[in-house]
Amino acid sequence: MALVVMKFGGSSVSDADKMKFVAGKIIAKKNDGNKIVTVVSAPGDTTDDLLEMSGKISLDPPEREMDMLLATGEMVSISLLAMAVNAQGEKAISLTGPQAGITSDLYHTKAKIKNINPKKIKSLLAKNNIVIVAGFQALNAKGDFSTLGRGGSDLTAVALSAALNADLCEIYSDVEGVFTTDPRVVKDARKLDFISYDEMLEMAGSGAQVLQARSVEVAKKFGVEIHSRCTFSDKDGTIITSEEKIGGKKVEELLISGVTFDKNQVKFTIIDIPDMPGIAAKIFGRLAKIGVNVDMIIQSAAVNKKNDISFTTTKQDMKKTQIELDKLAIELKAESVICDDQVAKVSIVGIGMRSNAGVAGRMFELLHKKGINIEMISTSEIKISCIVDIIDMEKAVNELHKGFGLSKQKEQI
Ligand code: ADP
Ligand code: ASP
Ligand code: MG
Repeated sequence: MALVVMKFGGSSVSDADKMKFVAGKIIAKKNDGNKIVTVVSAPGDTTDDLLEMSGKISLDPPEREMDMLLATGEMVSISLLAMAVNAQGEKAISLTGPQAGITSDLYHTKAKIKNINPKKIKSLLAKNNIVIVAGFQALNAKGDFSTLGRGGSDLTAVALSAALNADLCEIYSDVEGVFTTDPRVVKDARKLDFISYDEMLEMAGSGAQVLQARSVEVAKKFGVEIHSRCTFSDKDGTIITSEEKIGGKKVEELLISGVTFDKNQVKFTIIDIPDMPGIAAKIFGRLAKIGVNVDMIIQSAAVNKKNDISFTTTKQDMKKTQIELDKLAIELKAESVICDDQVAKVSIVGIGMRSNAGVAGRMFELLHKKGINIEMISTSEIKISCIVDIIDMEKAVNELHKGFGLSKQKEQI
């Protein structure tokens, strides 16, 4: 008898009919002779709606209360799904994250899981229950709810799979798996049969929403193989696993595996700062102190002992970054601070880059051919990212997808 963790995202449980459908799917899997632990997200756009509602009440709500609020979304799903399973004649019990034994550090809204004590889940499974666990939430050492960052139900599913030593970790959503790019943006995107942890990590980290980046990190650490697949289809999805396991199973060797994009970007430029030691340390030290996550950084060559520094952050951090930089500009005698939120990040990801020169040149050439200006560039071993004007984003994604031979109708590179 195998133990299967099945995670269903918000779009899979957005109304009563979908809840009933998911209940049927879970029961069918149990009837195949498996023990089932299900993880669910809040229905549909509930988390976004709760965030919006809180924004109308307070611009700076206490983080503890924010987590109390956000944790309610997943509790709607677990109770309704357990009712749906019971109504179809099977035994199911719902558990909050804390009831499931999931504990976290003391951070709110982006807590890290510290430990999982699966005793209660195991004893419920032993009594033939389907166990339904709320994703995205945990209990911290103060006895309060914490949440695990957006998309955090994926992390709950992977972490539970590791703690329970599950045989399968299936993450169900509204797409058939991991595609070469977002199938909603590029119509001829192709589903990948396999993708390595490292590539998936870079894709998720640069905007591919299909899996939360931290869940992939934990999957890699504990060797949890993920099957990303569609709730509304029985087709095989994408297996996310180690490069060694994929080995010769890839039908074709692609230079890059995917193209991603991220509109949640803001570019700041500090103009004419004195060119002397310690300036960058001061700016980024101060931003780190107020919890701003900085992504790409560029420093221009000095002219007349002055230079410009540009960097990107997320739209959530825009306001506090602006306030801090305005203070810093006065302290450092910089000329001015420019903020541009009409930018997007476009990235290509693939382990094929390691052994092939010229991938970056090819990317820049493809963008140039379409008249797209590159504002910033950053690279890692298996990823190249460019900041472009938000107006050019879709054109850039389509061009790179086609130009690197990822479309169904392939263009040779
Ligand atoms: P869930 O609600 O099930 O957690 P998400 O909305 O978080 O689902 O993730 C699924 C969405 O991710 C898809 O609807 C798709 O538009 C988007 N997506 C972005 N990039 C990719 C990609 N490379 N492959 C598949 N889906 C992607
Ligand atoms: N409901 C949470 C969110 O929208 C967690 C999740 O869906 O995974 O981010
Ligand atoms: Mg998700």
